[in-house]
Order: sequence, then C-alpha cells, then structure tokens
Amino acid sequence: MQIPIVRLALGDAEVEAASRVIRSGWVAQGPEVAAFEREFAAATGAPHAVAVSNCTVALELSLRVAGVRPGDDVATVSHSFIATANAVVAVGARPVFVDVQPHTYSMNPDALARAITPRTRAILCVHQIGFSCDLPAILAIAQSRGLPVIEDAACAIGSEIRIDGNWQRIGRPHGLLACFSFHPRKLITTGDGGMITTSDPALAERLRLLRQHAMSPSTARHESNRVTLESFSEPAFNFRMTDLQAAVGRPQLARLPAIIAERRALAARYTEALADHPLLAPPTEPAWLRSNWQSYPTTLRTSGRMSQIEIMQFLLDRGVASRRGIGNAHSEPAYSKCAWSCGPEPCDPAAHAAGRCLRLPVSERARDYTILLPLFHGMSPAEQDYVVATLRALPG
Ligand SMILES: *Cc1c(COP(=O)(O)O)cnc(C)c1O
Repeated sequence: MQIPIVRLALGDAEVEAASRVIRSGWVAQGPEVAAFEREFAAATGAPHAVAVSNCTVALELSLRVAGVRPGDDVATVSHSFIATANAVVAVGARPVFVDVQPHTYSMNPDALARAITPRTRAILCVHQIGFSCDLPAILAIAQSRGLPVIEDAACAIGSEIRIDGNWQRIGRPHGLLACFSFHPRKLITTGDGGMITTSDPALAERLRLLRQHAMSPSTARHESNRVTLESFSEPAFNFRMTDLQAAVGRPQLARLPAIIAERRALAARYTEALADHPLLAPPTEPAWLRSNWQSYPTTLRTSGRMSQIEIMQFLLDRGVASRRGIGNAHSEPAYSKCAWSCGPEPCDPAAHAAGRCLRLPVSERARDYTILLPLFHGMSPAEQDYVVATLRALPG
C-alpha cells in the first residue's frame, strides 16, 4: 500500500464548478470570487473577506495596510513555512524571530514580550499546522504596546479557540487581519489561493483596491452602457484570485464541517494508537483549542533508539510518507546571515557565524523531534490501519 502525506479529495462538484466557469465566458476575478468571499466570511464569522492569489501575498498586503514600512521590525516566528518570514521581507521590514510553545508549535507570548523593539511595528503570529496560537496573551501584549496583530492562519481554517468560555473560529479575526491559504497542502484548495479576513470595512476596501493595481472604478467596464475611463491612484499589485479558482473552492467550503469532523476522527484514532508507542508520542491538544488537524504531529520519545530520519525511512520503505517537523526560517540560507534579528540586541554577524547567536531552542527541537503522519480527509480506514500497523512494526 502507498500512503501519501496528503491526497486531494476533489470530485464531481469541483469539476462541475470549473466547467460552469469555463462555459460562462468569464474566468478572471468576478462573480465567483465575490460569492466565495461572502461564503468564506460566513464560515469564519468574519465581517469581511478579501480573496487574493495566495497566502504569501495575503500576508504581504496585510502588513502593508497595517502600516509596516521599510526599516520597521515585525515580531514573528521562525518556526513556520518560509512564506511567513518572506512576507515581512517583501515589505522591506525585518523579522524579529520569537520562539514557540512546544504543544501548539506557535508563538510563545513571554518570548514575544521580550522581543519587541522600539522599531516593532506589527506582530505576525501563526496558527501553526491548525493549532491555534495563544491569542488572548498575544493580543494583550499587542494592546499594551499599541501594535496591530496579523494572524497567519494559512493552515487554520475551521480551527477553534476557547476565549472567555466560548468557542470561537480562527479568522473572525481576533487581530486586525487574518490570512488563509488554499494551497493543496491545506484543508481547502483552489490550486493556489488566499483570503484575508477583517472586521474593518475601510481596511477591506483598501485591500480590494491594492489587489487590483489601485484601479477605479473597479467594477467591470463591460457591464456599463457608458464609456468609463479607469484611473490608478497609487502603485499597487495584481494579487487577484480567478473565478476558476473561487468556483473550485466553494463546494469544498460547503463541506468544511464534514471535512473537519472526519479529520478529528482520524486524529483521535492516531492518538489512541500511539498512547503506548515506544518511539513516538501523540500530540497534546490543549483544552483551550480545537485543531482542524491540518497536520498530525508526533514527537520522538527521548527514550527511543531510532532517529527522526531512520523512522521516516522505515515508514517510506513500507509505502508510508511522512514529513519532519515544520522548518525554521533562521536555519535556512535565506535567513542565516543576520537578515533577521536575534532579539532586542542588534545581530552580531561574528557571533551568528560562530553559532553563538540567540537560539530558538523550542523551534529547533520541534523541527528535529517531530514527525508529521499522513492525515487527509478521504483517508480510508484500511489506509489508516496500514499506517498504524507500520508504526507498530517499528523496532522499539
Ligand atoms: C502554506 C503556508 C503559507 C503560504 O501559503 P501560500 O498560499 O502557499 O502562499 C504561509 N504560512 C503558513 C504557516 C503556511 O503553512
């Protein structure tokens, strides 16, 4: 049996939706994007949702409208897909990397408080692999420093957090803006695609302007029976989503509750199977969050005798794909030369080169001691049985 890390569950509804758009004669941003935005806002409980080409540009645009300028600092995490750090650099700012919490893989609020510099202009937190970050603590720090919070919710559609005794959906948003991804590795896919949610109508309007070259009027000229001349108020971008993409996303969004229920059941099954496993420990889902199980992370037990790579190779040899923990931007060549800050102190290149720089121990451990198991909606019981049996066959 071959079990991939993720398998797409697209079917007739998505084929029909794409065909409908192709036959309509309108494939660029139009009515399907508008409908997807309305339905996404309803699904996350957000007043406004603005579709864009992908989550990386969603983050870039969000930082820009939040007022981040070249030379500013943005407090964020290294332990994330590289897009998080790249979005900060894209607006000319410097990422200040903060360590994460072990059980949520997301920003540690105490480390955040220590990392804020006089130049910090925004906080970019990540709801990593579907686990929510500690929003109440992060928002309290942001408020006391007068800083906007942008949530990288790329992986967190449908994840929930309990605040003041109530379960709330990620992306409502709790910060100023939240950004989602529709890359095939996430729960809902449009091939590539992104969405920004906000409660602020003026920000939503500004995002709509900037994603389309700051062009006005933004409505389709072909619908007007009068000659209209467009104008462009400032240099901006083409970050549009197409109607083809949006149409494919809509039926998946309608299935989201069922998708999450299925993924929770798969995760529970793994957690039960790993309870007494000699090498791998199941994740701990804190009582205040409900993951959408975008990924299922297991942790190497310290008593185990096989390395991360050896376990992954054992699984792969038997047809089971896995991935190591989320990467760390500060360990990548792109960020390893003080292109980021070590914290409040200026980066010392010599110390950095000698490995004496500030470390992010929890982030580094999370990458090297975590193995992500295959988990996707549409995974059959026989497939999961096979993964569990292969895990049991690991020489403990
Ligand atoms: C996938 C991902 C992104 C980037 O999303 P794209 O839509 O591929 O640009 C950003 N941040 C995190 C945490 C992600 O997992």
